[in-house]
Amino acid sequence: MLTIAKKYTFHASHWLPEHDHCGDIHGHTYHLEVMIIGTRNKIGMLVDFHDLDEVIEPIIDEVDHTNVNVWMNGGYTKYSVNEFGDPTFSFVVGEDPEPPTVENMIVHFAEIIEDTLPEHLKLFRLRLWETEDAYAMVIPNSRLNEIHRVLS
Ligand SMILES: [Zn+2]
Repeated sequence: MLTIAKKYTFHASHWLPEHDHCGDIHGHTYHLEVMIIGTRNKIGMLVDFHDLDEVIEPIIDEVDHTNVNVWMNGGYTKYSVNEFGDPTFSFVVGEDPEPPTVENMIVHFAEIIEDTLPEHLKLFRLRLWETEDAYAMVIPNSRLNEIHRVLS
């Protein structure tokens, strides 16, 4: 089994409704590690890291410097001017929005990345760090089934 991985960084805000510590809007520097499984091509690469960037960076660009509550729930940021003439904004995220916990975010990322990767590349593992020492991880069920099949 051969894998390669690359880490991508983005900055975003979020809030977790009804959460004591994370209920107010705040920001994180997230790190998303994308691990790919496959076989080497004739020049000895599973995939050129530059080619992986071309797939993953547009996904990162969609969430970088945004509000994750909006990104995850297909909402939008509404700008207006208040009674004092100051610019103000609010987030419109629709009904029953999914809270952007690191667990929900990584499931969202895994769905997008699996749908976006070219046929010859398979997502093996995804890790999303919300802080320097805390992350969530996803291994798609199809990969676990493959590993089980190989080992049994
Ligand atoms: Zn947070």
